[in-house]
Amino acid sequence: NIPETLLDVLRGHVEARPDAEAVVELGGQRLTYAQLWERASRVAGGLRAQGVERGDRVAVRYPAGVNWVLAFWGTVLAGGVAVAVNTRSAQPEVEFVLGDSGVKVDLSADSPLPDGSPQVAAGLGAADVAGLFYTSGTTGRPKGVPTTHEAFITNAENMVRCLGMPRDVGSDLRTLISVPLFHVTACNSQLLVAAYVGGTAVIMPELDLPALAESLPAERISFLVTVPAVYSLLLRQPGFSDVDVSGVRTVGYGGAPIAPSLVRALQEAFPRARLMNGYGMTETASLIAVLPDRDTVEHADSVGYAVPSVDLGVVPIGEDPSVGELVVRGANVTTGYWNRPEATAEAVVDGWLRTGDVVRVDEVGRVHIIDRIKDIINRGGENVSSVEVESVLLSAPGVADAAVLAVPDDVMGEKVGAVLVAGQERIDVDAVIAHCRDHLADFKVPQYAAVVTGTLPRNAGGKLLKNQLRQQVRWGNPLR
Ligand code: ATP
Ligand code: MG
Repeated sequence: NIPETLLDVLRGHVEARPDAEAVVELGGQRLTYAQLWERASRVAGGLRAQGVERGDRVAVRYPAGVNWVLAFWGTVLAGGVAVAVNTRSAQPEVEFVLGDSGVKVDLSADSPLPDGSPQVAAGLGAADVAGLFYTSGTTGRPKGVPTTHEAFITNAENMVRCLGMPRDVGSDLRTLISVPLFHVTACNSQLLVAAYVGGTAVIMPELDLPALAESLPAERISFLVTVPAVYSLLLRQPGFSDVDVSGVRTVGYGGAPIAPSLVRALQEAFPRARLMNGYGMTETASLIAVLPDRDTVEHADSVGYAVPSVDLGVVPIGEDPSVGELVVRGANVTTGYWNRPEATAEAVVDGWLRTGDVVRVDEVGRVHIIDRIKDIINRGGENVSSVEVESVLLSAPGVADAAVLAVPDDVMGEKVGAVLVAGQERIDVDAVIAHCRDHLADFKVPQYAAVVTGTLPRNAGGKLLKNQLRQQVRWGNPLR
């Protein structure tokens, strides 16, 4: 009895719990399921009047909030494809997405929500595309990922099963969305998971740490999800330890590697919650694997076990057969990119999607991310994981943040370079390197170091933007 389309999902709750709260914008509007359906079907009617038909793309470009949700659901009810546009992108990037996706209507901040006589498309099925999400563009130009009703629903079902909750839990699930809605974590694993179970999505229009802390008790948040970078700022908020967080039952994180010390700090800060690391990508409509609470502290370097619908495979990249590129398949995995036949041919091989992540799967099936394939450093034939070196650097004296990059070298091909951000004190590079020698094999120890001020370039999803950093950093002389 799993619903076939998102329309069936929403219609079910409109019948079962019309007056339950569906969406809340902090400091703004609140909508029940009945109101969400009524208003979204008017948006659908307005879009139909503007010529939107089944499969047509509609850009959803509102800031995070109720209007974003109405534009999304309105497009879906009209039978269209919601294009989740990154509103933080520069103008040329936005134009690229609008052109690439071929939108018929662009719902941007300065255009009012369409309003027409209520309409709901008929005849849609599980295989219809409902969303077009763009990858973060960490390793190149963002790619559009068509996401079907089946993919959205499969991801929601995976999340519900990982959380161990019934599908009709209703108002017991209240999730706080503090990361951008145009990424799959917020849209698919929070907004649509709440919609799937008949719970409530509470949306912060802008990241505001004091407001985030206050909303936990005030909005009775039970399912908190955000990126490691936001959690580390949140825990350092003055007065956070006085906030009543006893209603929070799940603390989810993901999108980027997390420091083991932050996992322990989260466990202390939310003693009554289960922690959960979620690993996924745009191409998989969000989740690939989940690390359950029992493993979060002891196996903090792991992203956990495959979610129910996903099969995993490892394609070895070197001599060790247990280490290689992770490939995945399942009902939530895309069959190809929008408009990019070459990228699709490269990424989807015999029905398996190449994730671009190098992993080791241990004897009990836990996935450990070693690095992104493009960030692995090949030092004279030895593979060095930039992620591994980064985690050692982060535990070195005086280092507040760190990134490891390949430095081109005539003899070795590539050498290991460390970009270091100082905390309160000055960084003593010799001491940092000595720390690396104590914790890493000789060939992994950085041979170049650059100390920078400020912060490393990250996107709103907490991801380190190495492409950008590579262009900014100036390496001095080698350290030895
Ligand atoms: P692009 O594919 O355009 O270069 P991107 O891969 O960063 O960008 P996303 O789809 O937003 O775009 O991110 C997916 C990637 O994020 C994964 O392949 C993985 O490298 C990383 N990631 C996601 N979740 C986690 C996690 N829990 N721990 C570590 N890394 C993660
Ligand atoms: Mg990617």
